[in-house]
Amino acid sequence: MTKTEQFISEVDRVSAHNYHPLPIVISKADGIWVTDVEGKKYLDMLSAYSAVNQGHRHPKIIKAMIDQAERLTLTSRAFHNDKMGPFLSKLTRLTGYDKGLLMNTGAEAVETAIKAARRWGYNEKGIPENQAKIIVCDGNFHGRTTTIVSFSTDPTCRTGFGPFTPGFKIIPYDDPAALENAIDANTIAFLVEPIQGEAGVKVPSEGYLKKCREITKERGILLICDEIQTGFGRTGRMFCSDWENVRPDIICMGKAMGGGVYPVSGIVADNFIMEAAFSPGNHGSTFGGNPMACAIASASIDVIVDEHLPERAMELGEYFRKELRKIDNPNIKEVRGKGLLTGLEFKTNCAHDYSLKLMKNGVLAKDTHGTTIRFAPPLVITKKELADALETITRELA
Ligand SMILES: *Cc1c(COP(=O)(O)O)cnc(C)c1O
Repeated sequence: MTKTEQFISEVDRVSAHNYHPLPIVISKADGIWVTDVEGKKYLDMLSAYSAVNQGHRHPKIIKAMIDQAERLTLTSRAFHNDKMGPFLSKLTRLTGYDKGLLMNTGAEAVETAIKAARRWGYNEKGIPENQAKIIVCDGNFHGRTTTIVSFSTDPTCRTGFGPFTPGFKIIPYDDPAALENAIDANTIAFLVEPIQGEAGVKVPSEGYLKKCREITKERGILLICDEIQTGFGRTGRMFCSDWENVRPDIICMGKAMGGGVYPVSGIVADNFIMEAAFSPGNHGSTFGGNPMACAIASASIDVIVDEHLPERAMELGEYFRKELRKIDNPNIKEVRGKGLLTGLEFKTNCAHDYSLKLMKNGVLAKDTHGTTIRFAPPLVITKKELADALETITRELA
């Protein structure tokens, strides 16, 4: 047995089988590169689902982590720490909102947004008790908690996990008229991904988000954008909603917020929501807003800003898709994306096989839903490195 086979058979034995990973065991990483236990190097074109936008082990983020680890790691929110305030000042300055609320995982950020919207609905809009309704989209991915899978449309995520949390209405994605029609007197919010990443990098029509903003404003409901995957430079803007100059009422963020080294998530919103929704004791998390998280997230945001990663993503993404579209393969249906978030969709269910072929040739990308390969390299990748990757991708996919 190779080392790889040994590690995989151990995981098969002792880990719950809640994932179906490619057969590679990674033990080291640096920048855009990862190395497996056999010593073979690969280009990471998944970036942990966009949690590693800054590249693996960015020196400034690692330094912030080590410095903080030597001073203070956790206080809980029973006491103040000297990192959360300065970090939230930075985050609210960057995003232009009054306040932030920090959690750990993306799913918790979405849960926080749902709770904020509901409390706002009852306290400010006068919705009758237990009647608040949130509109969501077909094909959504917002995480894995029981409430969030309650409004998933993917049977794999849902089946057998009921009874489900009520209060959600599902409408088609990229359909402003459906949103308009779905809003009733008890609707409090529309929760949407600016691009549906997990669904296969579904990019909505131009103007969709702007139209949703107009409708939600006109009808007096909140627009909540889940930017957990699309945020922090991935799509060529700091947030994907910036593409259409849309200012959501709540932004959910996570993934790259922790620079690929620590789980950090949260929401930002203005006082009219934050003040109506939260009071001492009604929401929280032991690790939420801890000093390690804040030090790391602070450095993670600095890297994105200082290294102009959104601009890089925009330039390189355009180039990448232009080259992918030249690949001669009649089974390719579409190449789409924004910034360095790209989906390549096939006409048949062959994306997993192609991912395996790419892996064998040193390029790591993962299929989603069988027909689409998602390419999302760290945003620190250079044009030369991307060109080298394109050579491999073109050869293996043609
Ligand atoms: C990954 C993701 C989540 C969930 O984040 P976790 O950290 O895995 O809980 C939620 N929404 C979107 C759009 C995501 O991509």
